Amino acid sequence: MIKVDITGKSYGTTQVLGRIAFQVAAGETVAILGPSGVGKSTLLRIIAGIDKRFDGRVDSPGTMAIVFQEPTLLPWRSALRNITLTHPGLPDADAQAMLDKVGIGDKADLFPGQLSLGQQRRLALARAFAGQPDLLIMDEPFVSLDPATAETMLSLTENLIAEHRPATLFVTHAQAEAERLASRILMLEGSPATLR
Ligand code: ADP
Ligand code: MG
Repeated sequence: MIKVDITGKSYGTTQVLGRIAFQVAAGETVAILGPSGVGKSTLLRIIAGIDKRFDGRVDSPGTMAIVFQEPTLLPWRSALRNITLTHPGLPDADAQAMLDKVGIGDKADLFPGQLSLGQQRRLALARAFAGQPDLLIMDEPFVSLDPATAETMLSLTENLIAEHRPATLFVTHAQAEAERLASRILMLEGSPATLR
């Protein structure tokens, strides 16, 4: 589903990533585990096609959905519209069904600023899955949540992945999260960072 072969990535004169090559098959869930500052978000932005300034190539056929480290929601649109505006043609009823599925069905008319961080994360998750992506990319989706909310999000994500079966690539600095969700864990370490 995705084939990554990056040979290097620098910010100015500082090389952040070295050679990083791996593939994720359809339906597979792969975690990239590494310490803060190692280059995880940089790697995901390259794979997502947001950052094109790198050496190497990334091949990803099919549709992609991205869940960022901080939820990137439209502040002046309701929870429901945050989903339908991202997926033109998606019926309101389908968007509402996704909100129900992540447990915020009663918040459809609220703006993101009226939701807790945990609820914003749920909305970001609902928006990602609403497009039935072939590839799901997540950047530390459970970071800075209290333990109970993180646990709820983790099992919610587990269920959504089991139901929709996208190829999933997510980065985290938490070993337990990686072990729980992923069928394969890649370690990102060093400077410039490479896989181990
Ligand atoms: P992680 O997600 O693993 O915490 P990042 O990919 O965010 O790490 O950052 C990796 C390194 O690259 C850090 O040293 C960070 O300061 C640096 N960095 C990230 N983004 C930029 C940028 N836009 N310009 C310059 N340096 C950056
Ligand atoms: Mg990061």
